[in-house]
Amino acid sequence: MCGIVGYVGERRAAPLLLDGLRRLEYRGYDSAGLAMVTPLSPDGPGKGYGLDVIRRVGFVAELVKAVPEDLPGCTGVGHTRWATHGGVTEINAHPHVDAVERIAVIHNGIIENFASLRAHLEEEGVEFRSETDSEVLAHLIRKFYAGDPVEAVRSALAVVTGTWGIAVVFADHPEMIVASRNGSPLVVGKGDGETFLASDPHALASYTRSIVYLEDREIVKITREGWEISRLDGRKVSHAIEELGLELGSSEKGTFPHFMLKEIHEQPESLSRCLLGRVVPETGGAKLGGFDLSPREIVGIRRLGILGCGTSFHAGLVGALAMEQLARLPAFAEIASEFRYRNPVISSDDLFFAISQSGETADTIGAVQEAQTKGGRVMGVVNVVGSTIARTCARGVYVHSGPEIAVASTKAFTSQVAALLVASLMFGRSRMLGPAEGRAFGEDLLGVPERMRGWLETYGMAHTGPIVDAVELLIKARFVFFLGRGVSAAVAMEGALKLKEVAYIPCMSYPAAEMKHGPIALIDKQTPVVAIVPDDVMRDKTLSNVQEVRARGARVILIHTEGDHEAARLAEVAIPVPRASALITPLLSVLPLQLFAYRAGLALGRDIDRPRNLAKSVTVE
Ligand code: GLU
Repeated sequence: MCGIVGYVGERRAAPLLLDGLRRLEYRGYDSAGLAMVTPLSPDGPGKGYGLDVIRRVGFVAELVKAVPEDLPGCTGVGHTRWATHGGVTEINAHPHVDAVERIAVIHNGIIENFASLRAHLEEEGVEFRSETDSEVLAHLIRKFYAGDPVEAVRSALAVVTGTWGIAVVFADHPEMIVASRNGSPLVVGKGDGETFLASDPHALASYTRSIVYLEDREIVKITREGWEISRLDGRKVSHAIEELGLELGSSEKGTFPHFMLKEIHEQPESLSRCLLGRVVPETGGAKLGGFDLSPREIVGIRRLGILGCGTSFHAGLVGALAMEQLARLPAFAEIASEFRYRNPVISSDDLFFAISQSGETADTIGAVQEAQTKGGRVMGVVNVVGSTIARTCARGVYVHSGPEIAVASTKAFTSQVAALLVASLMFGRSRMLGPAEGRAFGEDLLGVPERMRGWLETYGMAHTGPIVDAVELLIKARFVFFLGRGVSAAVAMEGALKLKEVAYIPCMSYPAAEMKHGPIALIDKQTPVVAIVPDDVMRDKTLSNVQEVRARGARVILIHTEGDHEAARLAEVAIPVPRASALITPLLSVLPLQLFAYRAGLALGRDIDRPRNLAKSVTVE
């Protein structure tokens, strides 16, 4: 969600900023803009500097068209906005400038007290141009500016509440950017005689790999030579430079038409990476070094809460069931945005997992802080190395799915589920699980990437067959039901979410037996029902529920275990998936659902990798 890039150096900044913004496009946004510090006269800087601000609604491509190729200026900042306050218009797009247009600000996040700040500033005679919360920052910085940019920004932020990643340029200081973060990530990158800024290291990967992550409530002065970081309260700090991992480089589409399809097909490898060295068949157990928990500590845990949003929450639902089954540890999954505000009861022997692909999900970060405030112990289950959740939790597990660029998550989901299954096995062995059971489960898990590969080879690209038939039914539907029970209820939720996100088809998901308590009233002769019915203890019960919707005319698309012909016979379209033990089935049964969303989105002409209104990492509440 929303992106920031900045550059101070010797090169012309505009092309670098536009390139950086393009690399952040996958995060989702609705408008883009940049501000350059440029000489006032074409003859050079003799007459001083001014600001050039260019903004456009829509994709970065629109901004590229609007920026003159020879736009001068070696200092600048660029932004992609995901609107929270005020419509998607050019005037609301960032950067925002002060009244005399000598200070320009870009902002990620939300200024919560903007209304009262705006009212005060208006009383003082300031005229606002936009409807955004962010514009107050430009006017506040102007108000406090007395020649020192860092002090002006520091003073402005002292009266602000909310979340921000901001970058500010000053026409009076043509070789400087001032930036600060609070709840919205920023990294500074070191070049040779040039310095970069970004909200996501992806934007910098082709320019520098030496970066520094800012912490919350820090402010940085960036110049060509480097940077100076201090806390907003004035204390000086210094951070060691970190080297960006190589993984970041591989975010190219290759031969696939869309990132989503590429990422669906990458799952055998991403899953292998997640399991590598962690499942230990010799002991029947598992090892997650990042947890740093001794068996004695694992035995002492009384309850596990798994916190996440969207797809990560669905992975959490599978994880909670697995933890109860394998480790007999009371466990629940909860939507992070609800958890953080319900004043939850937490005790010191509670453990929490915070799941987030990006590690920057604002709602999940809030939930982590709430759990920590109340004395709970929190471990991160994240993909992006060095992200806020990874660093806030200090302990945790990286799911290693590699860069996930498509907004709709696929490979991160399967890696999250796998990481939680590995954790359940590890906890299980210290609590309830014998070596033979543990070994059987571990070996089953290690065999999944190969089964996934075989399934994707058969169905992943096929132009005919059950996936195509199912998509035919789905794209004509007014709405679709997804049903499952046990872990498959979570898979049903994930399948429905994917189809909503990518194809914009209204969907509902229910634990199958819930249908008769109300939702079944919606079924008519046209309604497709996707039922996930692996051959587990819930199979017969779920098949009865499938019969109930069939009796009312539903068109059943059924995901079943290979060889289960009896189940297949109940369906208009039957899709087999390889056999696996019950808790592992989500890793396989979700594959057809991912393809449904992709293919339906394609058939309906949707923007597959960047669905409308969505953002990859949801960094606002
Ligand atoms: N709240 C700001 C706005 O609506 C910033 C949104 C963002 O993070 O992109 O303009």
